[in-house]
Amino acid sequence: MSTETATAPQSFEFQAEIKQLLDIVIHSLYTEKEIFLRELVSNASDATEKLRHLQLTEKSIHDADRALEITVTADEKAKTLVIEDAGLGMSGEELVKFLGTIAHSGSKNFLKALQEGGQKNSNLIGQFGVGFYAAFMVAAKVEVFSKSWQIDAPAHVWTSEGAGSYTLAPAPEHTARGTRIVLHLKDDATEFATKHRVEDILKKYSAFVSFPIKLDGEQVNTVTALWLRSKSEITDEEYTAFYKFQAHAYDEPRLRLHFSADAPLQIASLLFVPKDNPEKFGMQRAEPAVALYCRKVLIDSRPKDLLPEWLRFLKGVVDSEDLPLNISRETMQDKALLEKIGKTVTSRFLKFLADEAKSRAEKYDEFFAEFGIYLKEGAALDWTHKDALVKLLRYESTFTESGKTTSLADYVSRIKEGQTEIYYLVGPSRAAIEAGPYLEGLKARGLEVLFCTEAVDEYVMGNVREFDGKKLVAADSPDAKLPDAPKPPSAEGDLSDDQVADLAKWLKETLGERVTDVKSSDRLVDSPALAISADRMMTPQMRRMMKAMQKDAADTPVKVSLELNPRHAVIKRLHGIRSTNTERATLVAEQILDNALIAAGLFEDPSKMIARLYKLLEQA
Ligand code: ADP
Ligand code: MG
Repeated sequence: MSTETATAPQSFEFQAEIKQLLDIVIHSLYTEKEIFLRELVSNASDATEKLRHLQLTEKSIHDADRALEITVTADEKAKTLVIEDAGLGMSGEELVKFLGTIAHSGSKNFLKALQEGGQKNSNLIGQFGVGFYAAFMVAAKVEVFSKSWQIDAPAHVWTSEGAGSYTLAPAPEHTARGTRIVLHLKDDATEFATKHRVEDILKKYSAFVSFPIKLDGEQVNTVTALWLRSKSEITDEEYTAFYKFQAHAYDEPRLRLHFSADAPLQIASLLFVPKDNPEKFGMQRAEPAVALYCRKVLIDSRPKDLLPEWLRFLKGVVDSEDLPLNISRETMQDKALLEKIGKTVTSRFLKFLADEAKSRAEKYDEFFAEFGIYLKEGAALDWTHKDALVKLLRYESTFTESGKTTSLADYVSRIKEGQTEIYYLVGPSRAAIEAGPYLEGLKARGLEVLFCTEAVDEYVMGNVREFDGKKLVAADSPDAKLPDAPKPPSAEGDLSDDQVADLAKWLKETLGERVTDVKSSDRLVDSPALAISADRMMTPQMRRMMKAMQKDAADTPVKVSLELNPRHAVIKRLHGIRSTNTERATLVAEQILDNALIAAGLFEDPSKMIARLYKLLEQA
């Protein structure tokens, strides 16, 4: 692109997504048009933060002595509103890139929500924020004058009326570093050129901008770092307003933790859990968003290695006096320091969650329902904090009502004498697990079973491995060692041990390759048989996952061990007809295996089964 050398205005088309966005913004009847000012001031503040950061590392910066403030000028006569910052500015190429293509995640999510919602719901503008383009809600024409901090980059003016295109022209007269945005207001938006209206909006949305904002020469905000003030002086409203400002959020925070520590490091932190899980609807992966400050000066708004990955849903601020301003991730010393701060903050947050779980259990459960997936991820992967995280996990169990959960500690407090394992079953839902045959044996013994119904649970349980000295064991795995069950009273027609052994032998011969072995089971009460995956690694869930990913391993034939319930009528009858009607007995045997495979979630090819069922029906 030759934008740096051109002299005459050049015309550009907006990217297709931006055109779509502008079309909606301009024609929307969204009533709170005033949010455009929040967006523009927030951009000015971001640009100034970036400049302040550049000052730490760069020697030559254009207009180095310019005061870091944001000025807003309202001109009722001219019907203009001007927002000017002394931030890092933009070169010609950057103007084209940043204002002509979609970058802002809020506007991306806005478009996505619109596509999914299938309607032009203008309320979504307020929910997601449309960034810079909000200017076109109130302006018929927008001019952006900008001079980059880089000494050699010439100044430019970017102009657009919000239709399909914009122009870029040199602006040598704009010599001050930073960006000046001139809004030529629409006739129905001239209120935004009146001083008192603008002042109200600035006070409402921009109270936490950490640079002076001057309106017609007077400062309208008081610059304070909320996290450094004492808790008792701060109202809930202030906290929420700060959250919305700092996290660029539009919701109310669900949880908040404000703390300071003196040892081992000086730390002040204000953390928020948002209302909703940002990754819930398959939205893109959340980026770390807890900003790092040193004595009120922003070091990094999205530090990657401060907090563990699984805390990427957290918003807020960590401020440490012990940090050097020009912190560098390349030096070992700084890296270790960051890690130490991260560890302290993480431990504090985990302790906070534990307290919440204890004192406000219901609220904690709601939090867990929304964000538990992150804690599970941490419990499985973060060895440093694993123990604290495992205690925070919650599952429904055979001992809880539907919708209510238990912790592992509570499970252990109810554990039966002699029970050495914690049992769980994985399945798509509680109802599906309850309908399967695997619970029967545990229920008969009065053993509690956790219901694991999220896709990650199997992986989490496999990684966590044990709690409080008790192994976590899938109740349908060959590893589950159930203590002796109370023997049911013997009934007439019960098979002797020899008869059961004979039947098992016959079944193994009849079913051939499809089973690794057949044996009598004490896990069963109401069902005639169940299948246990013979391959410890290849659980039904794993198999489904491999299939979804089209891995070859999913094509290998299912191998199971079949367990029989010798007290069940079907098994007794099978024994009876085995020698008198072998053909029919074979059909029944195959059907028993298929039924067990269905219950195990391992059944794959129904074609043979249908033909067999008709044969059985014919004979009935
Ligand atoms: P976001 O602020 O979320 O990135 P916006 O649509 O508000 O999205 O802005 C798009 C981009 O334009 C910003 O990321 C930034 O690079 C650039 N930009 C906007 N306003 C300014 C400004 N006043 N100074 C410097 N760059 C700016
Ligand atoms: Mg923005």
